[in-house]
Amino acid sequence: MDNKSLLRKLPKIDELLKEDIVSEKMKSILRPLVIDALRETIDKFRNDILNQKLEDFEREDILNYFIYLVEEKNTPRLKKVINGTGVIIHTNLGRSILSREAVQNVLTASENFNNLEYNLENGERGSRYSHVEGIIKKITGAEAAMVVNNNAAAVMLVLSTLCKDKEAIVSRGQLVEIGGSFRVPDVMTFSGAKLVEVGTTNRTHLYDYENNISEDTGVFLKVHTSNFKIMGFTEEVSIEELVELGRKHHIPVVEDIGSGVLIDFSKYGFTYEPTVQESLKKGIDVVTFSGDKMLGGPQAGIIAGKKEYIDRIKKNQLTRALRIDKMTLAALEGTLKYYLDEQQAVLNIPTLYMILSSKEEHKKRAARLKNKLKKAVPHVDVNIDTDFSMVGGGSMPTEKIQTYVLKIKNNNYTAKQLEEKLRKNNTPIIARIYNEEIILDLRTVFDRDFDTITEAFKNIM
Ligand SMILES: *Cc1c(COP(=O)(O)O)cnc(C)c1O
Repeated sequence: MDNKSLLRKLPKIDELLKEDIVSEKMKSILRPLVIDALRETIDKFRNDILNQKLEDFEREDILNYFIYLVEEKNTPRLKKVINGTGVIIHTNLGRSILSREAVQNVLTASENFNNLEYNLENGERGSRYSHVEGIIKKITGAEAAMVVNNNAAAVMLVLSTLCKDKEAIVSRGQLVEIGGSFRVPDVMTFSGAKLVEVGTTNRTHLYDYENNISEDTGVFLKVHTSNFKIMGFTEEVSIEELVELGRKHHIPVVEDIGSGVLIDFSKYGFTYEPTVQESLKKGIDVVTFSGDKMLGGPQAGIIAGKKEYIDRIKKNQLTRALRIDKMTLAALEGTLKYYLDEQQAVLNIPTLYMILSSKEEHKKRAARLKNKLKKAVPHVDVNIDTDFSMVGGGSMPTEKIQTYVLKIKNNNYTAKQLEEKLRKNNTPIIARIYNEEIILDLRTVFDRDFDTITEAFKNIM
């Protein structure tokens, strides 16, 4: 057909609105989205005609494209993806996944009114921090605690309270950048604390701190260098020594622990990671850590330590700007609860489970997914192999966790093309490429996603 007749064949929006499938979509999808999708569908066909890309089309082609477009418009921009990368705490993919219980708590707290700032005992105004302070104290052994938006906010709030217009003494070996957006020196500047760098990148001694003490000293700040390790000729001042020096000069010692490990990983065959409990036990006055890294909860910053300092921090006006949301509180409480029984924590908190589950388990799962794929797409080339998962999130950077992966390739597509098609799937599947093969690490993939993955490969191939 020539272009003119093709253009004449294009339906009007009003006509399409009478189609059953369009009225059907209108029942569940907002009308403006349906109209947008119809308009864009007709535009696309018109452009294709004008650009000689279309020789003919049927009404059904138009409706099929409309269905694809309207469903795309109706899915949230922030959507579920399947993480096949084997990076467990993946900051770009939303860090920690919440447990069932935590999610249930969020639902209940957010689809109902709640006692966020209401004291049910006396019917008066209450504190939003009260809901998790007790459990944080119980788990960590701290005298007091509070929570804010994230750990960056926690560090800023602590320094702004204890060290505004004063000096924070930090070892040069700990002036780290985390994830490109959290740089210790920058956060300190925002808080109004003056940074005093002591020691060298690889070695800092107690006398480096001691020699820099003045009447302007506000805190000693220790930062856990969570995302890198310095090896070789190194020296760091121990917590005990720093605490002793702090006591002698009445200077509080603050530690940014970053990941916030609450269980002893060495029990499970990992290298020992310092825990929150240990820092507090050794006398650190105030610790801060993330909620969505090793703790396995929602984005949050937890501040725990001596009551006299936490009380002052709670009164800082800045808390109003950094405060934690009710949904986060609900999720955090639901996550922390598991830590009362470590066995339950490692079973139910997805981040901990993914780190600690055995590679044999993932070998069996890999076999199951492979069978499904083979059955659905017989000509796909899929093999099971060993590999390593990473903790991610700047945590345990040297820890390589043995795992099993599927290695997938196909003659019709390069690995790069396959990766892109998987990434652009309805439910995006994020995979790694290695040696011209697609790698799917079973450790970060759920059983409940096996069907979606199989379906995606079927559609692609
Ligand atoms: C991750 C991290 C932060 C930032 O924590 P967020 O919760 O992402 O704000 C700060 N300090 C250290 C040491 C970290 O590891």
